[in-house]
Amino acid sequence: MSLRDPVKIAIARSHRIDKTVCRSCGVTNPPRATKCRKCRSKNLRPKRAKSANL
Ligand SMILES: [Zn+2]
Repeated sequence: MSLRDPVKIAIARSHRIDKTVCRSCGVTNPPRATKCRKCRSKNLRPKRAKSANL
């Protein structure tokens, strides 16, 4: 599914990118999480912009 409306693209991109990913178990967490919701590790990284396939 491709979007051409720039407003929708911006919304979709922000929703995909605005997450953190656990380096230990790989689950995504809320953007302001300090601990992983699954394994409680503090080893989180922000989800990278290039991984959003838009
Ligand atoms: Zn984890």
